[in-house]
Amino acid sequence: EAKRAGRGSYHVYDLALDERTRDRHALGHAMREALQNDEFELYYQPFYEAETLTLVGYEALIRWNHPERGLVPPGEFIPVAEETGFIHVLGEWVLKKACREAITWPAGLTVSVNLSPVQFRRKALNSAVTSALSQSGLPAHRLELEITETVLLDETMANLATLKQLKSLGVRVSLDDFGVGYSSLSYLRTFPFDKLKIDRSFVNDLGTRDEALAIVRAVTGMGRSLGIKTTAEGVETEEQYACLREERCSYIQGYLFGRPQPVQRLAHLKDHDACGEARWRSVG
Ligand code: C2E
Ligand code: MG
Ligand code: MG
Ligand code: MG
Repeated sequence: EAKRAGRGSYHVYDLALDERTRDRHALGHAMREALQNDEFELYYQPFYEAETLTLVGYEALIRWNHPERGLVPPGEFIPVAEETGFIHVLGEWVLKKACREAITWPAGLTVSVNLSPVQFRRKALNSAVTSALSQSGLPAHRLELEITETVLLDETMANLATLKQLKSLGVRVSLDDFGVGYSSLSYLRTFPFDKLKIDRSFVNDLGTRDEALAIVRAVTGMGRSLGIKTTAEGVETEEQYACLREERCSYIQGYLFGRPQPVQRLAHLKDHDACGEARWRSVG
């Protein structure tokens, strides 16, 4: 047995690896079933024009209504969906669902859909967007696609081409979580983003860290000079909001104004100018 100790330890290692793979496989399988059982749901978080608090649209955020585990946030299954390739199927479902639901909203409102960088590895992305639009009847300009800078980091040229094709459909493209990755400012020149979403971490530090204010000021200023709108995500306090108004950030989004919620709870959908309610809610 002593002679096999070395092999034994390898064996243990292999087993652990195997278990992880099996776990992922199990989760991957469970997700496929969950989609068939209609366990996925889109929650919607409103975003508003910062200055007037006019409702502009909603961001679709996926949830898994797991029969035993309850509401599972995307951070717990999107990475596995990306690893197993299931994200292609799931992403298509999200696009279709979001467009179908958004077509019932007042005509001025837009819907934002998050795309995974993995979805860019297949040509089918373009046709998924096209058919989501045509099947729902949603005008392209009411759909906004949120990508992260990872999309621009790998397969840069191919992904840029895909992004440009998507934009030529008339959809809007925004750069999510701006400022936390490694993106180069030259991307802003190469690709015509409609919007930059300033990462929650900077918004969170507004009022406590001077660097956060400096960064927010720089990004909003740069947005203005480049003709790109800016959104602050994760606004939680009145102080943060006041600061963002001062910096003339275009849009705001965060718990202060509205949490993500199921579509049936978007009560003020018929009320185009929902600012009163939003303000009321933020104190209530
Ligand atoms: P994200 O696109 O940056 O979305 C913002 C996240 O911040 C959401 O978390 C939202 O619920 C949360 N949030 C919004 N306002 C506040 C706030 O004031 N305070 C705090 N603490 N959090 C706030 P969520 O829904 O868990 O989504 C996490 C991430 O999962 C998203 O980040 C997005 O990258 C990804 N995701 C969500 N839905 C989808 C989807 O349908 N497809 C893909 N590929 N990714 C998705
Ligand atoms: Mg997003
Ligand atoms: Mg974001
Ligand atoms: Mg984020």
